[in-house]
Amino acid sequence: MKKKIYFFFLLISSIITNAQVYNQQVAEYIKQVESPYNFLNKFEQLGIKMSGTSGIDSTYLWLNKISKNLGYNPIINKFKNGGDSLVNIELLKKGDNDSCILVCAHYDSWVGKGVNDNGTGCFAIYQLSKLMKSLKTKYSIRFIYFSGEELGYKGSYHYVSKIKTNNIKVKYMINLDQLGGTVGENNHKVYCERDNKTSMKNESMKLTTAISNCISLYTNITPEIGEAYLSDYIPFIDSAYVISGLYQYATYPYNHTADDLLKNVELNSLKEIVKGALTSLLFLSDADNSDLSLNKETHKEINVYLSENGMCFKDLEGYNYEIIDMLGKVLKKGNISENYQIIPIKSMHNRICIIHLNKGLKYYSKKIFLHY
Ligand SMILES: [Zn+2]
Repeated sequence: MKKKIYFFFLLISSIITNAQVYNQQVAEYIKQVESPYNFLNKFEQLGIKMSGTSGIDSTYLWLNKISKNLGYNPIINKFKNGGDSLVNIELLKKGDNDSCILVCAHYDSWVGKGVNDNGTGCFAIYQLSKLMKSLKTKYSIRFIYFSGEELGYKGSYHYVSKIKTNNIKVKYMINLDQLGGTVGENNHKVYCERDNKTSMKNESMKLTTAISNCISLYTNITPEIGEAYLSDYIPFIDSAYVISGLYQYATYPYNHTADDLLKNVELNSLKEIVKGALTSLLFLSDADNSDLSLNKETHKEINVYLSENGMCFKDLEGYNYEIIDMLGKVLKKGNISENYQIIPIKSMHNRICIIHLNKGLKYYSKKIFLHY
């Protein structure tokens, strides 16, 4: 019998994903993300947030106040919409480096009170700005609550012209718009959105992949890569910034209606997605893990690779392994009992897998594409 020869090609993800290893300290830290209920309940009480309403003014004052309570000194950017004055609120968290990551969500609404669109994104900004505040990071972070999104990205266009004038260095722009699930729907997925059209599309894909990997590693939500459209990243895409965004996967039939209310927003998936956004920001801003008040672990070169006979584990004796597909299904698991061990994986060909390794409190993870 002629033996069939299998060719395996191992594509270890690029540097940006390769550095993402599961870290127990991060997993503990993100447990501080709070329940969204109180924030969204208040957001709903503030009323309709269209240009010219008292609701949008009260929402601005409230976001300004709760940001001050976190210790920020909000930067207020005013701009005009016809006769109305609208306001972007910006919170600067300084890093070692001037280059900054923008994390943005709009707070204006259309027709309704906008609990999902976009109280949920505002909740994420509030939690992220709270939990990143005291950490030491390499990159600076600017958290922005935009106004005028529903009028055609007015706040974000205004902001882009401001950063150009002031020569603010932007590494990434991450947009958070509609992150809640929908009550009664299947809410186990989130879209990670990338720019797939412009000269920055490769950079945008790398950024989006990094965010999607963080969500896979630390939450029970499954990321799905999608395309950026109809939100505040558009002015940034137009000006060749590197963008990404998160957007809920489940359809939400109530947006831009009077029924965009707390009772229709699923809160558990929102909390999980905010945890995923927080891990992404810890990773992208290069936060110092020692600040997470647990021991810093050194990154280990993970000796996992493919051969003709299967998946090879080298110098990993004593580790437990799990081979997981992108839907989170465990395809194979076991214990590594030898210094050089091969696990047959022929039945798992042609798919992307994540290998989790753990021994005591040490966790590592590696994403591998299997082709043959
Ligand atoms: Zn929106």
